[in-house]
Amino acid sequence: MINRVAIIGGTHGNEVTGTYLLRRWAENPAEISRDSFTTSPLWANPRAFSENKRFVDVDLNRSFLLKELNDETIHTYEGQRAKAINECLGPKEKPAVDFLIDIHTTTSNMGVTLVLFDGCDEYDFRLAAFIKSHMPAVNLYFFKDHREDLPYLVSIAPRRLALEIGPVPHGVLRHDIFQRANQVVQLALDYVHLLNVGSEPEPAHDIEVFVHKAVVHFPLDAAGNIYGIVHRNLQDRDFTELRKGDPLFMKLDGGIIRFEEDQVAYPVFINEAAYYDAKIALSLTEKAIRKIDLSVGL
Ligand SMILES: [Zn+2]
Repeated sequence: MINRVAIIGGTHGNEVTGTYLLRRWAENPAEISRDSFTTSPLWANPRAFSENKRFVDVDLNRSFLLKELNDETIHTYEGQRAKAINECLGPKEKPAVDFLIDIHTTTSNMGVTLVLFDGCDEYDFRLAAFIKSHMPAVNLYFFKDHREDLPYLVSIAPRRLALEIGPVPHGVLRHDIFQRANQVVQLALDYVHLLNVGSEPEPAHDIEVFVHKAVVHFPLDAAGNIYGIVHRNLQDRDFTELRKGDPLFMKLDGGIIRFEEDQVAYPVFINEAAYYDAKIALSLTEKAIRKIDLSVGL
């Protein structure tokens, strides 16, 4: 039974869709209300929003490790926001909230992508399948991170759904992206409610999952500066097949760098603006089919 759901917007200040969705829901609270649980909307990083930056001091979405939440020597703005959010919805060791939705956007052409983490279970896959049954273009991205304690905001809740929706530039609000983000949140709330009241719709038999394999860095020059551009044939082709010999980058000297692996991969976060600092150009995933186990009771 899920008694309390939190919806987080604006974790990254320049991903503004979540912030404006919270403003919409403040005027239309019925949209995020369901009879069987309470909904707590929360604006995660107001100062980064007003400065139109991803973060002010440090990445808020990497600030939720237990040891940092309990570290009284941390005084960064995001460190304090993480502690305040943990106090309001957590604490992480024994959270007050049962389910947490965190809304992000991406500059990559990833459409609506639901992000799952280690520890996800039958509930998460059935939730994703339910959403996909209403929005067939939705992608499911399983981000493997085997650390025992995770630094992401969603990690403070026992059940979590992280959304990545794009393409949308930083600081920009787009009607189509806004509408899709709203729709996917509505569907997630519908599913939680249907399950709460014991009327889960017939789940799908299986669901396609893109499982994270590796990140790919930009080509660099001798000084460590980016020395290549994501190839035009790869740009915007998130979740589509990448085969041996396909071009990845055009180097500034005009040379082409090609994909060398024998196994087909499916790239995501292609040319994501937020990852330039880390010189990451894209991530590779492999496609798998996850069977839904209908014998498991939820
Ligand atoms: Zn984000």
